[in-house]
Amino acid sequence: MDLLRQLLFCRLEGKVAIVTGGASGIGASTVHLFLEHGAKVVIADVQDELGQALSDKLGDTVCYTHCDVSNEEQVIDLVDSTVAKFGQLDIMYSNAGIVNNDFGSILHAQKEQIERILSVNLIGGFLVAKHAARVMVPNKKGCIMFTASACTKIAGIAKYSYAASKYGIVGLTKNLATELGLHGIRVNCISPFGVLTGSDIHDETKKVGVLTGSAIHDETKKAMFDRIMGEVGNLKGKLLKAEDVAKAALYLGSDEGSYVSGMNLVVDGGYSVVNPSLF
Ligand code: NAD
Repeated sequence: MDLLRQLLFCRLEGKVAIVTGGASGIGASTVHLFLEHGAKVVIADVQDELGQALSDKLGDTVCYTHCDVSNEEQVIDLVDSTVAKFGQLDIMYSNAGIVNNDFGSILHAQKEQIERILSVNLIGGFLVAKHAARVMVPNKKGCIMFTASACTKIAGIAKYSYAASKYGIVGLTKNLATELGLHGIRVNCISPFGVLTGSDIHDETKKVGVLTGSAIHDETKKAMFDRIMGEVGNLKGKLLKAEDVAKAALYLGSDEGSYVSGMNLVVDGGYSVVNPSLF
């Protein structure tokens, strides 16, 4: 019975986690699931109202901290304030990300937009991992995870700067796993296919025409997702949800994933391995 209880409810008992981009979408689902499994969680985001409201709703084993992951000072504060509040850091889930709104040709790509995507999605990942490792290495344990994307497995489902940022995350994952494995730290990334996250457009990014997250609001895109996952995916008719991605993070973050490192865990219902000519 104890084992059953542990598997059902306590897979992160005693652990402290940070979830960047935790105010909405995949991050918010992960915050919920990590809390259900006994972790103490810090939500890090730039959407302060949303992040604070989520934290207030969820009780005293969670708190919200403003952190723009592309700003190293803010990342340092995030990690140090987490350790000061909860005494340790066991899991860093580097999930914050933005997408480019431009599905056009590379011929029209704007340097400013490319830099913005890379600074949040890739450099942000570097900074978050660097400062998580700073406190994990002396403890000789820890788990670092990133959200990459299924676009690292199949070309053409995301545009250049976004795809490059996520390929960069996969490379970072493998190299960090090699270095940090020597210190007992596991590093993995999760690559979801399309998730219908209701993200908002963030003011900062509007200036360069970038949407935060992977907001898919309009019916045309929803129909496209339905078609792809309903007809081509291996899980016919079942759309990927943010909670499905959170479950992958729970597995990697828990002791059940204790021998898994350097991996890109693809959560796409089999989309990236399906031969479309069969459908
Ligand atoms: P989302 O917009 O709901 O969540 C992203 C969160 O990141 C938001 O709360 C946003 O405020 C936050 N954020 C943005 N810039 C930030 C910054 N500079 N510092 C800190 N936080 C910042 O979108 P989501 O779909 O939940 O995206 C989460 C992650 O999943 C992203 O890395 C995204 O690229 C990746 N992803 C999403 C999908 C999808 O279809 N939704 C598919 C593959 C990968």
